[in-house]
Amino acid sequence: MMPGKGAGSYFPLGSKEPLNPGSASLPVTSSSARRPGELERPVTDLKGVGRRTAERLSALGLESIGDLLFHVPFRYEVAADLVDIGRLREGRPVSVRGRVQSVSVRRTRRPGLKVLEAIVGDGTGSVRAVWYNQQYLEEPFSRRPEVLLRGSLVRRGADCSFRIKSHEILSGGEGEGDGIHTLGPVPVYPATGELSVRLIRSLLHGALPYAAHLIDPVPARVLAAEGMPSAADAVATVHFPGTAAEGRAARNRLAFEELLLLQVALLLRRRREQSATRARPLPPAAGQSRRLLERLAFVPTAAQRRSLDEIDGDLAKPVPMRRLLQGDVGSGKTLVATYALLRAVEAGGQAALMAPTEVLAEQHAARLGPQLADLGVRLALLTGSCSAAERRALLAGVAAGEIQVLVGTHALIQETVRFRDLLVAVVDEQHRFGVSQREALAGAGGQEAAPHVLHMTATPIPRTLSLTVYGDLDVSVIDELPPGRTPVKTWVVPDERTAGMWEFVRRELDAGRQAYIVCPLIEESDALCVASVRSVFAELEAGPLSGYRLGLLHGKLPSADKQRVMSDFQEGGLQALVSTSVIEVGVDVANASVMVIQGAHRFGLSQLHQLRGRVGRGTAESYCLLLPGGGDEDAQKRLRLFAKTADGFALAEADLRLRGEGQLFGSRQSGMGDLRIARLLTDGRLLYGARRWALALLGEDLDLVRPEHRMLRDAAEARFGAITGWLDRV
Ligand code: ADP
Ligand code: MG
Repeated sequence: MMPGKGAGSYFPLGSKEPLNPGSASLPVTSSSARRPGELERPVTDLKGVGRRTAERLSALGLESIGDLLFHVPFRYEVAADLVDIGRLREGRPVSVRGRVQSVSVRRTRRPGLKVLEAIVGDGTGSVRAVWYNQQYLEEPFSRRPEVLLRGSLVRRGADCSFRIKSHEILSGGEGEGDGIHTLGPVPVYPATGELSVRLIRSLLHGALPYAAHLIDPVPARVLAAEGMPSAADAVATVHFPGTAAEGRAARNRLAFEELLLLQVALLLRRRREQSATRARPLPPAAGQSRRLLERLAFVPTAAQRRSLDEIDGDLAKPVPMRRLLQGDVGSGKTLVATYALLRAVEAGGQAALMAPTEVLAEQHAARLGPQLADLGVRLALLTGSCSAAERRALLAGVAAGEIQVLVGTHALIQETVRFRDLLVAVVDEQHRFGVSQREALAGAGGQEAAPHVLHMTATPIPRTLSLTVYGDLDVSVIDELPPGRTPVKTWVVPDERTAGMWEFVRRELDAGRQAYIVCPLIEESDALCVASVRSVFAELEAGPLSGYRLGLLHGKLPSADKQRVMSDFQEGGLQALVSTSVIEVGVDVANASVMVIQGAHRFGLSQLHQLRGRVGRGTAESYCLLLPGGGDEDAQKRLRLFAKTADGFALAEADLRLRGEGQLFGSRQSGMGDLRIARLLTDGRLLYGARRWALALLGEDLDLVRPEHRMLRDAAEARFGAITGWLDRV
């Protein structure tokens, strides 16, 4: 799939070496004989589709003949060999072709169960075939006796019969007669609703001629390079393949097309945004950003360096940077963010750092303030709890350009905040912000040029997902931790060991360490969450942790209280913090060595990983203790997997596998449900290939206006153009 040198085509049907996307274009396929409108015709135009069937198809989202053709199987049952009846062996699934010699229906001892028996012969022998509760077949069998049967020979004592899996009447009839149900690999469709697979197969058979009207949006040269068939061929093969391998190859071809359309739509959208907005290109790094790196007490990791280089590349361009920096907790994103801020300052402009909560904004300001002051840079913190007078003074400083770096919550993007010259904005944990907030930030420069924006997230997202959900952003990944980190020891604590666990926690506290105690997640309501955290707090205070200094933190506390609790904990006044999962993001207390998670089975793996990331930030040995608090065997398995996996990306992949695409992001919501054929979980290779091709094609034809690209552009816009922002929906 790699359009580059040396990579083989993934497509088994293809024999050609993949071409380089840079090579000369092939001529466009003629489409004059095609009438794509034919595919829009309603399913009722197919023979045999009445109102009932149409309704049932509609329930599957299949309205037009085109929809039906693109209802693609996700796997195939292996082909059953066609054998002579005289050579039937017990057990093996096979197909036989023969003539019904006699047919009868009899009752059985079980009430309501009727058996239809037919003697079927083919010249080499005959066999008794048995159907349950399908007595209505008696009439057609006697009228049209040529049949194809798929099944296997079963022997019960002296009784020997052919147990039917599927059958087909060969002597004429609607959509039948070609062995479509019994010969060749049988497709398995993702959903058939109230329709029998048999009927779907018949309808598809009738719909197949319409595939000739398909216009192939994939440029001929991509097809040639990848050794892929035309869309029409792929559609025919996917439903009626000669072998399962051919079927899968055709399915991959259609999944690739879908992913290519998606990537093209995302990149076109980015292209439109970038051509509509200008940004000031920044001169090469010099001054404070250089000095920041020179003064570091450590050596940046290779991944941090790569991210810095990628950001430098973006900042040199006259279009706004739209980059997502992904890195596990503790991977060192702050350095990269600080660097980006300083690049703006040294170019004579301003920078903003926006955090999702006040606690985090304060923490950033407390960390960065002194560090930036050392470099002669003036930083200020703006949150909702600034007094009116403070706020006024601060805003004046921002407007005058005296404040060079402004840190804050979304208070930063209120209308009253006017920067003199905002060049770079960093948005921490960007998924916490809505798109309107991000856009407001982009407009906050108060100038004709938009700021360069770096989004940061510690939520590891599998690459397949990020290419889709964040496909309109460039992505930098910090995929290694600084050296010398000891992984957090993680245990699942069985109920009977809970007392022992609290004793362990007390010993840690006695040794001067601190602990987080996270209460069960209650999704139903915030009020329940608060109630739960209060009762856990009361239990601990009266029981296992009595006599220790405990703090209580939840989302409904007034922000002043939250801050007081957080700073008490930070300064060591509080020994343990009982909280909801609000501490999930970014909070950093190096002395905290224990994380207890109650009701752990309710959290997703990625979320548990975020929570665990709150400890193990200092030099002390750290522990994450999981109290399952119920949960079935699967939940236990998940927790055990978590306990032995330290890599956030691996956990995110596992989450995706275990909970499914829809679960992770809400499939409709994120637009993931808009994928009909491709599956992110298993189609990674196709997706990366589609991404590379989309980049290559747009690289040489920015707006895809060349004739050989126009169909691709139109199809991408038609299919995914309405997705205004996948980002917005996460
Ligand atoms: P996060 O990605 O979670 O924001 P931070 O930027 O807070 O991570 O970094 C975590 C800790 O690791 C900080 O104390 C930071 O100073 C330190 N750190 C960052 N990069 C390196 C490095 N390359 N080598 C050693 N320590 C580092
Ligand atoms: Mg951080």
